[in-house]
Amino acid sequence: MSNISESFFPETYRITKHEGKDDEYTFYLLSKSESAVCPCCGEESRRAHSYQEKRARDLPILGKAVTLEIMQRKYFCDNEECIVDIFTERNDLINHYSQFTTRCRDYMLKVATYVSCESAVKILAYQGIRVSGDTLLNMLKAAGNEYQSNIGKNIGVDDWAYRKGQKYGTIICDLDTHEIIEVLQGRDSETFEKWLRGHPDIEIVSRDRASSYSSAVNKVLPEAVQIADRFHITKNLIDALNDTMKTFMPEVVEIPTDEPIHPEEAIVNQAVKKTRKRSSVKRPN
Ligand SMILES: [Zn+2]
Repeated sequence: MSNISESFFPETYRITKHEGKDDEYTFYLLSKSESAVCPCCGEESRRAHSYQEKRARDLPILGKAVTLEIMQRKYFCDNEECIVDIFTERNDLINHYSQFTTRCRDYMLKVATYVSCESAVKILAYQGIRVSGDTLLNMLKAAGNEYQSNIGKNIGVDDWAYRKGQKYGTIICDLDTHEIIEVLQGRDSETFEKWLRGHPDIEIVSRDRASSYSSAVNKVLPEAVQIADRFHITKNLIDALNDTMKTFMPEVVEIPTDEPIHPEEAIVNQAVKKTRKRSSVKRPN
């Protein structure tokens, strides 16, 4: 198992032990790094100081939760101008400030943006990732800030359910990269307006047909082109057709038929009529 499982992690780690329980795997990793870059000044250090323990939850394996117990290496920063004396190494697997690995966090955010936050928690739990709705929400908000520096000039905006029928937010995507840029709390005009004020370079806004987002764009970026996307136009068309049909069509429409009834079908119909007649006769008390 250790040969296969070693391919799950960066080469800089050695698996010292792994344990498997009914619903959980734990991997113990030891850093083999010989140098690291100081996150404060960017200078490389080869002078190791000690180890620091870090626990992180990783992507599940076959529906079982995976926990990593990691011994991260600490290094001295020998740059005299740096304000840091000792730092812990950084890498792509571990997010220094998170209880989840980077790849686990990315996966959770992908799921959370396809469905509501509440549904994402259930799906992730089924797969072996235990996370609360509040944690997921905070991660989404933090992810929004992360993507902010990559914002293009063309965006799509729509409302999004944290909890269907109760709590809604606004999700903003980059139309060119299809990446999520921001998740805002609330779907009212003021919330979107506030966000737009910080992004004066936006040129195209694809949106639903609701007036709240439209009025925010009109107010803050009157020069921006607003596009009603195909999904919402089709939906509006179907809704309008439904409303129109309801005004003149009865609830039940009899379909006339000129085709002669087959003799066997006529017998069955007669039997059904007789049964209905019998069941409608009131019995004397
Ligand atoms: Zn430094």
